Amino acid sequence: MKLSPPMDRSLRERFAVCMLAMLLPLVVLAGASLFTLRAVIGSLDEVVEEIAGEMHPVMQLQSMIQQSVMPLHDYLLHGSRSERELFYLMCSRIDRMFGEVIGSDFQIPREAELLRDAHREWTLFRDQAAEVLDNETALGDDAALHRMEELDIRLGTITGLLEENHNLIITEMNEQKRHSYRVQHRAYLVNGGIFAAGLITALAAGIFLSRSVLSPLRLLTETANRFGDGDLGARARTGRMDELGSLAQAFNDMADKLAQNQDTLRRLATHDGLTGLYNHREFYLRVKEEIERSRRYGHVFSVLIIDIDYFKEINDTYGHQAGDRAIQDIAALLLREARPADKVARYGGDEFGVILPETPHDRALHVGERMRKSIEEYRIMPYQGEDISMTASIGVASYPQNGSAETVIVGAADQALYAAKNGGRNRVCSAPAVNPEKPGEQQ
Ligand code: GH3
Ligand code: MG
Repeated sequence: MKLSPPMDRSLRERFAVCMLAMLLPLVVLAGASLFTLRAVIGSLDEVVEEIAGEMHPVMQLQSMIQQSVMPLHDYLLHGSRSERELFYLMCSRIDRMFGEVIGSDFQIPREAELLRDAHREWTLFRDQAAEVLDNETALGDDAALHRMEELDIRLGTITGLLEENHNLIITEMNEQKRHSYRVQHRAYLVNGGIFAAGLITALAAGIFLSRSVLSPLRLLTETANRFGDGDLGARARTGRMDELGSLAQAFNDMADKLAQNQDTLRRLATHDGLTGLYNHREFYLRVKEEIERSRRYGHVFSVLIIDIDYFKEINDTYGHQAGDRAIQDIAALLLREARPADKVARYGGDEFGVILPETPHDRALHVGERMRKSIEEYRIMPYQGEDISMTASIGVASYPQNGSAETVIVGAADQALYAAKNGGRNRVCSAPAVNPEKPGEQQ
């Protein structure tokens, strides 16, 4: 199975994997803690059980042996028969206890050896004590007293051997304690290691998540801000297969639509709906722009205002739809006659405006004349077998000779147009020069 790169996985998947990665060491940590706790407690239990199992019978033995001397002493002092019976009873218990203790398992072989030595000494002690007790004349007898002293010495030997055994058990206990501390230490190391691994995993997961989520979000925010600030070409980086990739794609689709709408709106705001030419407002803006450019570079330019003669009659005779069609045809004709650098606008109703950049007045009069002729020659549309012809009157004004403000220049061309109308129509008239500003001169 081919694994997709982490950035192509969905955010939901990435969050789930990171949470698992963070949780896994915690689960292992909990398991390891439980295991090591059980190991430590188990090893401590073993120590306690073993020590209790070994120490208890030996201590009991020690105490029983020490007590066994009491009836012996009492017999030598009082000569009572009951003390003998008590001693023999104690002896049988001590023998049984020795049997049990010697028969058990020992960690250290020396322990068994010591117990066997103690048992041998005890057997001698018991037999010698029996001799004393079997002596009917022992009461106040010096030999018996001397025997008693020897028995006390032997008793000391037995106690010493059992004491040594006791010390061995304590040594063993200390060794077990050290072992349990070692287990504890190992447990700390293992748990600490797992904790550190968990911490590193959590940190790595956190960094991975924040980088894979926050940086694309930041880029997207920057792109949205650029777009909001008017950079309609700003697009988010796509290519990721996750939710952020979809978000970036959605943003780009939205930006494309907004940019398209913006284009449509701009076109609607600047162009005439019927002819597709620049509208009245845009015509003035372009004249203003042309004035600035011509002033900066010392150029000249001209403006034509064209009005169809008796256009009302076309509407009245053929209807408004035919009139619309005539306006569209004239617009197309003007565009054909104009150079690529020229700008043709629908000034209003049946009036058109044409900007002729870098065209002096006399050349503009020629252009106007050419356009007038084209309109005159053009047969707008055959209507019920008859060709409809039209004429147009044209006024011409130029920068800088007719003014250096857009309203003034267009006003001058308009006045020239009225002159053409008044002069009998179907003609081109020139606006009288009123502002002989030198090209390139600043106002
Ligand atoms: P002249 O200019 O020669 O003085 O006479 P005219 O009949 O052309 O008079 P004027 O320019 O004042 O009238 C323009 C007419 O154009 C008036 C209006 O009915 C018509 N018109 C304006 N806009 C449109 C339009 O979009 N479609 C149509 N069909 N007619 C329009
Ligand atoms: Mg007209």
